[in-house]
Amino acid sequence: MADQPFWLRKTLAELNPQEWESLCDGCGRCCLVKLEEEESGEIYQTDVVCQLFDCEAGGCSDYSNRQSRVDDCLQLTPQRVAELSWLPDSCGYRRVNERRPLPSWHPLVSGDREAVDRAGVSVRGKVVSELTVASDDLEDRIVLWAEVAD
Ligand code: SF4
Repeated sequence: MADQPFWLRKTLAELNPQEWESLCDGCGRCCLVKLEEEESGEIYQTDVVCQLFDCEAGGCSDYSNRQSRVDDCLQLTPQRVAELSWLPDSCGYRRVNERRPLPSWHPLVSGDREAVDRAGVSVRGKVVSELTVASDDLEDRIVLWAEVAD
């Protein structure tokens, strides 16, 4: 057990801050604007992304200040990870919470952050900023983001 990497050994609540941060592969899927159908509560993803997301390079352009700059930026916690049904199947937090291994392209496994893009899981280059889309047009931007193989 002790020779296993931390993401297989520990629960989310047991991770230190550095381990916690390293679980994020930077895919950006949690930064997508989501729409919720009032009656059913169903969540729909769009190809519109948070104003702070760098659409070309990927990642948050102001990570340390994101919560003060964006009202609805959600801080992931072990409890929230367990509750958020829309986190992608590939998300490292979801995987550890479900006691499942990380995908082969995850930077902690591959040692290569670009592998996330090659695997097709990153939204970089496939999204537009919410600053460029009127809220009335968001329904037209609903897309189904494919899950990718491990
Ligand atoms: S969905 Fe998960 S892995 Fe992807 S950016 Fe969000 S927290 Fe990181």
